[in-house]
Amino acid sequence: MLIDQFNRKINYIRVSVTDRCDFRCVYCMSEKMTFIPKNDLMSLEEIARVVRIFNGLGVEKVRITGGEPLVRRNIDWLFKTIDKENHLKELTLTTNGSQLKHKASMLKNSGVERINISLDSLDPDTFMRMTRIGKLNEVLEGIQHAKKIGFKKIKLNVVLMNNLNEHEVFNLVDFAIDSGFDISFIEEMPLGGTQFNRNETSVSNDDILNSLQNHYKLSKSNFATGGPAKYWQVNDSNTKIGLISPHSHNFCGSCNRVRISCKGELFLCLGHEEKVELLPLIKASPHDDGPIIEAIINSMRIKPESHTFDLSDSKPAVVRFMSHTGG
Ligand code: SAM
Ligand code: SF4
Repeated sequence: MLIDQFNRKINYIRVSVTDRCDFRCVYCMSEKMTFIPKNDLMSLEEIARVVRIFNGLGVEKVRITGGEPLVRRNIDWLFKTIDKENHLKELTLTTNGSQLKHKASMLKNSGVERINISLDSLDPDTFMRMTRIGKLNEVLEGIQHAKKIGFKKIKLNVVLMNNLNEHEVFNLVDFAIDSGFDISFIEEMPLGGTQFNRNETSVSNDDILNSLQNHYKLSKSNFATGGPAKYWQVNDSNTKIGLISPHSHNFCGSCNRVRISCKGELFLCLGHEEKVELLPLIKASPHDDGPIIEAIINSMRIKPESHTFDLSDSKPAVVRFMSHTGG
């Protein structure tokens, strides 16, 4: 079992399988991105091995993320292999939805029961402005397809930004209610340098909650997915609203996860540079997991207590983008 220096049990990993993406969301990426050379990425076999090792150390929940995980070549093999080789309570995915029309059945057949889909706008023009290149109709088709296939739960993820999509909050919640989905609002985090000053674009979840409480009948929910969201049930509906609030309500005290980047770096916290390079160990020790297990156990001593995001600082808290670390 993995226990960190602050006595937090680590039973959840997020694995970024690629830093590439078919969108360029304005809060996530800069307009011109330099992606990691493909030769420097972990192979799918190496990713599967890392997951197996973590599962052996007590990790029960794995989220596949990116970049856009569903654009990685042969991603089907990875989902099937992880499903077959591990004893997990949950294998989940975060996706922008663009490929769901083709991939939803494969996901369902690989034991994925819950998926998170990012959807920042229901207006095609705003959607294009926020993703720079994304087509809303393709994502909505993917969402409808996933709904038809029948996952246990679909959750929408939304990042609200001042003067861009902030005014769509009720439209997005209504869409979630009509579809029977949950929906989470994520406060923008200062990861990587983007075109906007985050101090000006960021919207506080306290303000969002205020507006939501004036518009809907909400009850506080004890529901927890093992993630950082605090949930509110929309009365008389199947929809819970999650608020992921790194700024207005720091959630680090209950942190139960670490992240593995697409380059095989084990990041102990999204908001810090502390990391352990797993890929050289994986390559140097193809038949013996011992050195990798030892490095993971030792990493628990350097997991930071808390992120220190400060939106008033004009520089990003960490220079790497969320798509590199895995959101
Ligand atoms: N491409 C997939 C997607 O968009 O769902 C998965 C990767 S994306 C990095 C995972 C999540 O991180 C998305 O919900 C996205 O909205 C969120 N995200 C990306 N950059 C962010 C930032 N700077 N602050 C807050 N959330 C961010
Ligand atoms: Fe791509 Fe997801 Fe980042 Fe948007 S948030 S650019 S879809 S990785």
